[in-house]
Amino acid sequence: MEKTAFSRRDFLTRVGAGAALSLVPLSFLDGAWAAENPRPDGKEISPAEALVLLKEGNKRVVKGRAIRKNLSPSGKSWTDGQWPFAAVLGCADSRVHPDEVFDIAPANLFVVRNAGNVIDDDVLGSLEYAVEHLSVGLIVVMGHSNCGAVKATEGIITNGGKAGGHIDSIVDKIRPAITALPKTHTLADSVKANAVQSAKLALSESELLHEALTKGELKIVSSVFDLKTKAVSFN
Ligand SMILES: [Zn+2]
Repeated sequence: MEKTAFSRRDFLTRVGAGAALSLVPLSFLDGAWAAENPRPDGKEISPAEALVLLKEGNKRVVKGRAIRKNLSPSGKSWTDGQWPFAAVLGCADSRVHPDEVFDIAPANLFVVRNAGNVIDDDVLGSLEYAVEHLSVGLIVVMGHSNCGAVKATEGIITNGGKAGGHIDSIVDKIRPAITALPKTHTLADSVKANAVQSAKLALSESELLHEALTKGELKIVSSVFDLKTKAVSFN
């Protein structure tokens, strides 16, 4: 990956101020992916392949055939380095563990979690690190059914008031995803919209992630994990 950072002015010149979301689809642009953190076994996993691996892993979980698949380079210990093939931004909910949801062994996924899987500077820094320095080519934003953070935001939008303390910082980040929905929406609609919002914000707020996507080095998708069926639906 190109190391040279480009300036804010360059970024705005290239994509137009505020136009990044409309110009760049949340899809993988084929062909240019290359490793900055090459695996010692040479078995590079492309963004598209990474998504297939996660979908296959979740299918095993749904069928009750989990194996905690390990894709780490063979013969390497954790002290030798890390070669995660995907990053997941998920909710801090104690029932939602991306490694288990996708049936992947430890040291294979770079996981960032907070209540409501929202975007802030620290999350962006973590995702940028994964992409820039670990050669992660896939970011999955994963909301989940019955999310308490989304539900609390729904309640505050409907009834007013505040959550209190620093929780309002999370509520304020989730709120725009919900207020953009029709009034008759469901909690499931809000969970999905919040995950989509985080995926879009990751691109609009991070020049590094945006550039990686346009160069075909990164794919970003949003998804929702169903606590009941354990299935992940990708948007
Ligand atoms: Zn949650």
